[in-house]
Amino acid sequence: MNKKTFTFFPEDPAQTVRIKRFLMALGSYAMWVVLCTVCILQGFTRFTLKDLYALSAVVMLFNAGIYLLLRTGWNKRFKDPSLTMFQMILATMWIMVCLYGAGEIRSSMLMLYFVVFVFGVFRLRFLQFLVVSVFAIANYAVVVYLVYRFHPGEVNLKVELINIMLLATVLPWFSLLGSYITNLRTTIAKALETIEKLAVTDELTGVYNRRRLLEILKEQKAFCDRGNKVFSLCIIDLDHFKSVNDNFGHETGDIVLRGVAQTLKQNIRDFDIIARYGGEEFMLVLCSTNGAEALTFAERVREIAENMRFENHDHVRITLSVGVAEYRPTESFQATINRADKALYRVKENGRNRVEFERYAESKQMYLF
Ligand code: GH3
Ligand code: MG
Ligand code: MG
Repeated sequence: MNKKTFTFFPEDPAQTVRIKRFLMALGSYAMWVVLCTVCILQGFTRFTLKDLYALSAVVMLFNAGIYLLLRTGWNKRFKDPSLTMFQMILATMWIMVCLYGAGEIRSSMLMLYFVVFVFGVFRLRFLQFLVVSVFAIANYAVVVYLVYRFHPGEVNLKVELINIMLLATVLPWFSLLGSYITNLRTTIAKALETIEKLAVTDELTGVYNRRRLLEILKEQKAFCDRGNKVFSLCIIDLDHFKSVNDNFGHETGDIVLRGVAQTLKQNIRDFDIIARYGGEEFMLVLCSTNGAEALTFAERVREIAENMRFENHDHVRITLSVGVAEYRPTESFQATINRADKALYRVKENGRNRVEFERYAESKQMYLF
């Protein structure tokens, strides 16, 4: 039975990263509330603790909404699913309210803008940064106007002009640096993706390498052991491949290996796996497939290989030998590989270009106990 329990972070790793960033923003809000409380208690601002907590309640309400968006996956409908810019604009608005009531410490409070802008480094491009900058500067100009209008004694227009100049210089500059870091992050993420792909791919044939194969076998074993299901393995060995190299050259040998790998890949189902197991050996992991089905499939593959032609190397012909074995739940996957290997050995002994199946020996298993 699939019992659903609530977890704070969803299974999707990208969503988890977004929620972690959201929590960082929440941490910044907490810091902001503590700082404001100190300022209010020291009598620096026009706002009272009641005002602060009312504003905090509204901020929390909005944040609860954002968490809900992230948790339900609704955020994925937006162009930027991380909602970074949206959250930054919101934070900028809260700062505007704070600045209005900040009284004599308004200039120091401007630092809060930088806390918001740091979050842009996770995502924003230069133009987006610039939009938030202009928004923040316009906000501040509105604050100055409103304070000047309703509390004229609190405003020193000369100082405010310097403040606006400061914001108008520093925020666009920060936007430039921030977008540079965003670009670096994108480049690094792409490089990491390439490295991850290379780490699991066989360079010559483009199919999975042995390292990934072993991981997949581990996963398959765990999956089948849980549900008492089966999967089957085919070890495929090219016959007399050495003579392909000897007769037509190593380069042609490489073309043949690539061609075989691609043909095998095209002929398996989407959820089956092909990997290069060794020099001229491939392994197929056929998911939810029993031995009899695997045997039929291996025979089909063998026939396909007999009729294979290679581009610009029409004269080359190959045949395959295939050893097949079925995984028995709870046994080690190495035991299944050994059986497929044994079957392959028999094929080679019996003349090649054939398929053999090695049965699971109950008696041997009992002996082990
Ligand atoms: P059998 O039918 O018994 O399997 O004979 P075989 O010649 O295929 O087997 P053997 O193990 O004697 O030789 C395997 C050959 O595969 C030798 C090796 O040079 C070649 N080989 C292994 N990896 C590569 C590769 O990446 N490129 C090329 N071109 N040849 C390779
Ligand atoms: Mg071999
Ligand atoms: Mg061979």
